[in-house]
Amino acid sequence: MQLYNNLSNEERAVLIEQAGKDRLTISFYKYAKIGNPELLRNHLFINWNELDVLGRIYVAHEGINAQLSVPADNFEAFKKHLDSISFLENVRLNIAIEHDNYAFLKLKVKVRNKIVADGLNDDTFDVTNKGIHVNAEKFNELIEDPDTVLVDMRNHYESEIGHFKNAITPDVDTFRESLDLIEEDLREHKEDKKLVMYCTGGIRCEKASAYYKHKGFKNVYQLEGGIINYVRQIEAEGLENKFIGKNFVFDERRSERISDDVIANCHQCGEPADLHTNCANEACHLLFIQCDSCKEKMDNCCSTNCQEIIKLPYEEQKALRKGQGNSNHIFKKGRADHLPYKKDLRNIFETLKK
Ligand SMILES: [Zn+2]
Ligand SMILES: [Zn+2]
Repeated sequence: MQLYNNLSNEERAVLIEQAGKDRLTISFYKYAKIGNPELLRNHLFINWNELDVLGRIYVAHEGINAQLSVPADNFEAFKKHLDSISFLENVRLNIAIEHDNYAFLKLKVKVRNKIVADGLNDDTFDVTNKGIHVNAEKFNELIEDPDTVLVDMRNHYESEIGHFKNAITPDVDTFRESLDLIEEDLREHKEDKKLVMYCTGGIRCEKASAYYKHKGFKNVYQLEGGIINYVRQIEAEGLENKFIGKNFVFDERRSERISDDVIANCHQCGEPADLHTNCANEACHLLFIQCDSCKEKMDNCCSTNCQEIIKLPYEEQKALRKGQGNSNHIFKKGRADHLPYKKDLRNIFETLKK
């Protein structure tokens, strides 16, 4: 039986176009004890492939984390299939605000050690002992409370283009760094402050809240379903939106606009901008913020060096890449010294602490 993709991205894009049907961009996660991740992986692949589901799914002994593109016509059948798996019955689905039929072009179901790379040793605490889940309405109330410390559990390149008002946005590249930094900083306030956190879809907070409870924090809250679910709720219930800018997402769309505010700056000229570019040089692929005029001037590159490289014949570029190893700096943009206008988030963190 075919348990892997056999279409290229291009072939798939053509099929999606020919079908002319709307697709929904959906994500969900669930922490649960999974005895045989490989078996679940195959079961999901066979059934979802049949429903023309695409996306990136991680399955581990600790649970499942899925980012998907589902044909709108097959949504009911897909939901029915989820409900047929006992631990996924009625799992909360985050449905994206903006849809892109080409958000995913392959179905990749992978068995991993963890469903989120967290750098933690699981045996030290109980992931299911999570914080209090709050909905958008309660969250809006909580974050106005003077005893609340609001923390963005995402990485710096995510919070740079959008975050909740008054949130602490750690200047970190990884979840693990964030966990340590926040714990260190709030050491004195484990009992008197309310630690309220949020992330994109809730999965990182699920683990972080359990971690902080384990570390002795008494009042730990998390935004249920993350920013994605928050936006749906404020729209459906007519609540005040307290999120400014854009929500960074992990598919081809890169981000969803939530408010009209542009809170970031082009890393090359400093003008207001909040669109990420992947440097066009295959050997670089740096992810950074670039305005339209720099994009044009620089040919989608992060530096004049990269700009020169992409003008070389392809074979020459390939020869240059040889022996350089896997230089994947894609999310290291905050550490790219040649970009003059990258944001120094650590200063913001210092000010908010006071
Ligand atoms: Zn610019
Ligand atoms: Zn570059």
